[in-house]
Amino acid sequence: MKAATTTAERRYPALRQQLFALLALFILLMLALLWFFQIALLKPMYESIRRHELSYFAAALARADSDSLQEEADRFARRTNICCTVYEISGQYAMQRASAHILSGCVIHNVSSESMMNRLYAGARENALYTERVTDPALESAGESVPESLIAARLVETDDGRTLLIVLDAEIEPVGTTISTLKIQLAVITALLLIAAAVLAAVLSARISRPITQMSREAKKLALGTYDVHFEGGQNREIAELSEALNHAATELSALDSMQKELIANISHDLRTPLTMISGYSEVMRDIPGEMTPENMQIIIDETQRLNTLVNDILDLSRLTGGAQTLSCETISLTETVRSTLDRYAKLRTHDGYKITFENDREAYIYADKSKILQVLYNLVNNAINYTGEDKSVAIRQITKDGVCRIEVTDTGEGIPADQLPLIWDRYYRVKNYHKRGVAGSGLGLSIVKNILLLHGAQFGVTSEPGRGSTFWFSLPEVPKPETGVTEGTGDTTGGSF
Ligand code: ADP
Repeated sequence: MKAATTTAERRYPALRQQLFALLALFILLMLALLWFFQIALLKPMYESIRRHELSYFAAALARADSDSLQEEADRFARRTNICCTVYEISGQYAMQRASAHILSGCVIHNVSSESMMNRLYAGARENALYTERVTDPALESAGESVPESLIAARLVETDDGRTLLIVLDAEIEPVGTTISTLKIQLAVITALLLIAAAVLAAVLSARISRPITQMSREAKKLALGTYDVHFEGGQNREIAELSEALNHAATELSALDSMQKELIANISHDLRTPLTMISGYSEVMRDIPGEMTPENMQIIIDETQRLNTLVNDILDLSRLTGGAQTLSCETISLTETVRSTLDRYAKLRTHDGYKITFENDREAYIYADKSKILQVLYNLVNNAINYTGEDKSVAIRQITKDGVCRIEVTDTGEGIPADQLPLIWDRYYRVKNYHKRGVAGSGLGLSIVKNILLLHGAQFGVTSEPGRGSTFWFSLPEVPKPETGVTEGTGDTTGGSF
């Protein structure tokens, strides 16, 4: 069965095709440059170099005096492989003053004619350096591939008033054969390089695209909710980094997915328990005469309250962890905030015999969000009351030292095993099979406490000794007492009570 083509397949060419196109383009560009310089420009460049040599030779002879003229002619002729003749022009006559003949096929020595001399003389009068190309007619008629001669003529006026005509003859080798050879070589090189480009494109694209193809296959599985995937990096750093990032994302997604499932399971379990109680008691009260008692009503009210707390906790936590929660901080009396928290437990103290004490050295102020700090204190004191020992005592202490205000909430309960201490701050974590007393809780309280304290930049922690109790604490920087605007306590509470 043929797999359906994807949008990417339809829209973009394969990596191998793209690589081959780029490599081929690069190779063709390089070869075009080579072609241009080696073939199209070879002849003109060669001739230009020869012309430059002729001009240099003529200038040297023009500078030489009559005694050293022959010597200079010989020296330069040997050096540049150029023949020369220097004439002195006097009226209609031209007398040879120097000559160097080193090329066998030299035109100026072999076939020099009066008409040619006249032409050169006329040319030299018109141009600073007159040049023309000449071929030995005798050799040409023999049908051979003969070297051409580049002849130059220059007129020079000497200091003593004489006129010299310098005639030079440089041989120009035929470059046609060289160019044909180069053309064949370049054609072969082009073919070989294009084959190499195809092979290179195939190898490179395989190296790059294989891990990418594997990754996109795994990513598709991931998108369908299969978290058990592994991305292979290949031998390329960027792709290896991409695969690491994707592996990390897969692990995170998997953790998030199981957390979500666990969360839903926990929430539905916690919601179901009070709902079952409420519906059960309501049915009993409706169907059985005499069951409409205040006690049964109280159970329904308590369970409704529990549901309410649970829903509020979930909402609080989702706001705190979702980053939607902002603090509205002000300077508050921490001492007073603790006192108002403990006021809520007045009934517990009088009716249930709980001993809740608050020790504080003095009125301390912090810069914080009052409602959130109340929530922290409420959760910590609530836990201490729930988990404290048979003596039903809970001690709250405020310690102010070195500009830091610390609150400690201590109970006398069973404590928490050391290995579980770091975990109790996690959402929905509850120490398993440890508490004798069945304590109803959502497992969200400490997670809310942690998030609020983190938002405040507070220090916090817990110390616990199994069998002897736990102390939960947090500390915030102390700030000076403000002039106005803070709810003050009575200020007469030192130790024992609040
Ligand atoms: P819960 O609603 O279950 O109390 P928390 O997040 O407040 O949820 O606490 C998480 C777990 O930490 C509790 O289930 C309990 O096992 C443990 N814990 C919290 N406070 C105390 C304490 N003062 N003493 C012993 N264990 C505690």
